[in-house]
Amino acid sequence: MLKCDFGNLQREVELLESADTRVLHWDVMDGHFVPNLSYGALLIESIRKRTDLIFDAHLMISEPERYLDDYLSAGCDCITFHVETVADPGKLLRRIREADAVAGLALNPGTDVEAVLPCLPECDLVLVMSVEPGFGGQQFMPSSLEKLQRLRDQISAETLLSIDGGIGKSTIGVCAQAGANLFVAGSAIFDEPDYRQAMDQLTELATKPVASTSLEQ
Ligand code: ZN
Repeated sequence: MLKCDFGNLQREVELLESADTRVLHWDVMDGHFVPNLSYGALLIESIRKRTDLIFDAHLMISEPERYLDDYLSAGCDCITFHVETVADPGKLLRRIREADAVAGLALNPGTDVEAVLPCLPECDLVLVMSVEPGFGGQQFMPSSLEKLQRLRDQISAETLLSIDGGIGKSTIGVCAQAGANLFVAGSAIFDEPDYRQAMDQLTELATKPVASTSLEQ
């Protein structure tokens, strides 16, 4: 949602609903863990009353354990925090699960896959950042594909494998092939005049086999 028109937020949500969007991904930034600020639980809660779509809060914030209850109370169905932000990710993942939410763990481009491996049994979702977190509209980092493949080999079939950053027509197919099954798209939807058409194209590209040269197009 970082790239949406916040002056017309309700209208944006309606357009996404009519484009058959399944999940609204909320990038929460604190100006500390990442350089920018975005929005917080209050804004998410205000939209919660207006749609039944799944809410996925991506907490790009320091000390996520301090704010977890706010995002649960705001009605987020899924809470993802960064492995770089806590000493004991397993403890926080268990708290999220105990609240009947989907427990997600994210890793930055500079963080090795090894950092999340010990926590995988407690993750419902692993999110690979394919750009540096904190800004919308960045270029996809191809090194993320190897991370997806390594994680796909390690996680259970039920665990969601999400990719976030630079996802669009030229990258979604190779990410799917590398094992991702949840795709966070910003500019690839919001910069298009017709969200429905953009969603349909991305869905098609994510579900059909791609040539290995797709990234160069
Ligand atoms: Zn995100």
